[in-house]
Amino acid sequence: MQKEKIDNVMNILQKHYINHPQPLVSRDKWEHIPKTPYTVLISCLLSLRTKDEVTEEASIRLLEKYNTPQTMITIPKQSIQQLIYPVGFYKVKAKRIKDISKTIIETYDGKVPDSIQDLLSIKGIGRKTANIVMVYGHNDTNHLPIDTHCHRIPNRLGWISTKTPEETETELKKILPKTYWKIFNHLFVSFGQTICTPISPHCTTCPVKSYCKQKNVKKHR
Ligand code: SF4
Repeated sequence: MQKEKIDNVMNILQKHYINHPQPLVSRDKWEHIPKTPYTVLISCLLSLRTKDEVTEEASIRLLEKYNTPQTMITIPKQSIQQLIYPVGFYKVKAKRIKDISKTIIETYDGKVPDSIQDLLSIKGIGRKTANIVMVYGHNDTNHLPIDTHCHRIPNRLGWISTKTPEETETELKKILPKTYWKIFNHLFVSFGQTICTPISPHCTTCPVKSYCKQKNVKKHR
């Protein structure tokens, strides 16, 4: 029964959002810069707390010239800051990009590790970023990147009852058929930005309302 509901919701969301603009990291083809595990990692770091359009422009400015850890460590931190401005926390991110690039060279022979444990052991890489690098950088679809939308919406739908994105990742992996794992992040982020918004979701126009338990939704439109 639950599987049927999940299939229905995923099918409806696919129809609505499959052509919705995707953030750079999850797109199959990149136009201006090479797509590698390293460039996916850097673009993902830039995207934290930053709008998709700003992230994309900053990623292109930085990565069209400096798209390997070896080239990234040759430029001063201030140059990285200038290239990525106005992404959120650009000073912190410039330092993080330099530090992570150095660690990749010194500890991982210049290659972005292809294991979650190794990625998480690098200071400045969190669980969501590590999962994104695994899926979109290394094309390993055994991972499920969970951000705030991917955590909030399955709880509202009543699929799971979890407190943290980490718990959500574990629980969703048990119930979400694997065929949906690669598109799940794109669909739920798009849905969360437009209809199932954090505060006062648009339930009256929601295409999956009949499958939703609206758990913890106190106010809606
Ligand atoms: S009915 Fe409301 S709470 Fe449920 S998924 Fe739709 S927008 Fe979100």
